[in-house]
Amino acid sequence: MKIPNHTFKTGEVKFCQICGNKKLFRFLDLDHQPLADDLSPIKQGHREVLYYPLSISFCKKCILLQNDYIVGDNKLYPKSYHYVPGITKDVLKNFESLSKSLIYNYKINKDKDLIVDLGCNDGSLLNQFKLNGCKKVLGIEPTDTIKLAKKKGIKTIQSFFNKKSAAEAKKKYGRAKLITTTNVFAHTNNLREFIMGVKKIINKNGVFVVENHYLLDVIKKTQFDTFYHEHLRTYSLTSLIKLMKYYGFNIIDAYTSDRYGGNIQAHFSLTKTNKNLNINKILKNEKKQNLHREKTYINFSKKIEQAKENLRKFIEKNKNKYIVAKAFPARASILLHYFNFLKLNVEYIAEQPTSKKLNYYAPGTSLKIISSENMKKKEPDFVIVLAWHLFDTIYYKWKKIFKKKVKFIKPLPNLKIK
Ligand SMILES: [Zn+2]
Repeated sequence: MKIPNHTFKTGEVKFCQICGNKKLFRFLDLDHQPLADDLSPIKQGHREVLYYPLSISFCKKCILLQNDYIVGDNKLYPKSYHYVPGITKDVLKNFESLSKSLIYNYKINKDKDLIVDLGCNDGSLLNQFKLNGCKKVLGIEPTDTIKLAKKKGIKTIQSFFNKKSAAEAKKKYGRAKLITTTNVFAHTNNLREFIMGVKKIINKNGVFVVENHYLLDVIKKTQFDTFYHEHLRTYSLTSLIKLMKYYGFNIIDAYTSDRYGGNIQAHFSLTKTNKNLNINKILKNEKKQNLHREKTYINFSKKIEQAKENLRKFIEKNKNKYIVAKAFPARASILLHYFNFLKLNVEYIAEQPTSKKLNYYAPGTSLKIISSENMKKKEPDFVIVLAWHLFDTIYYKWKKIFKKKVKFIKPLPNLKIK
């Protein structure tokens, strides 16, 4: 089978990132936006940030959504990258159960089998394997967050995952029984090297586990703010299977879950073929939900426009009120820029006191990200929850803290004031 081009250069991509199809359907244009993590320190004052195009296309043949513009890994993942999963309880809990189920399902030999996490960030997932008794764990990650993994006693290689780092890993640590990559596989612009790297270091009976945000959940829950420059692709299971097949990998298991707004987890192997029933169930459902039809995506963008208009009207009516925004995950930047009236009507963005994003300006705005403790000092009239996928958690926590009757705004999928 001829493998299509899976190495994407900076700039516009006019073909499907999996099958090369040139007849793509562009259904959403989010205009030009700064990078969602391009934060400027408040103490250094304002600086110009770069804006890049952000529009999304659909490949009918693969059931894939893709970003039409590639910014490039080096710009997106500087050494000073901010996101660290270790601070979020939800993420840690997920990693704990993920590690336990993988050890059990694949009969991992805790003393002998090598487990590698690609894009391991601060080592949170590998640390769970360690806590479960696995002795041989290796993390590969380009940014400085890997230093935190090292501190946890995890073996590390600081690099993007490519042929070179794969060769280094193999030489030093041998082949892996289990290779995981969570929230990385949608990001890389060099898919070919990434998958060839996996092929290089995986055992004959090894398992490659990919976990990512899931196309069906993005569409069903109108999560347009998961389309940011880092997310080059939004996968369906259909598309993941098609991609990996080019490289000789078979799907052996798959799961969907509601974690962080909706996830797909797919397990691949070079040799095993015994298919789990789950796989067919998920694939059938993708068709049943009309993910292969353009109409689905037209309706999706209509819903986004409606939500934007509803919120704009609400804010207009309440523009003299004290409105604070809560939480600033990367996706909040997309919401802030596309629902651009928010930039003028929000006082500041509140983040948890331990966040590394404190004392920065939100990308390309004069909105400050400061400690949520400030909301206690001067209670707002409205809290607009930018991390609206975590609305309930934020709502129940802060409802207890506020003394006056503060209202919470959930902007999507339909405007909700609570
Ligand atoms: Zn395609």
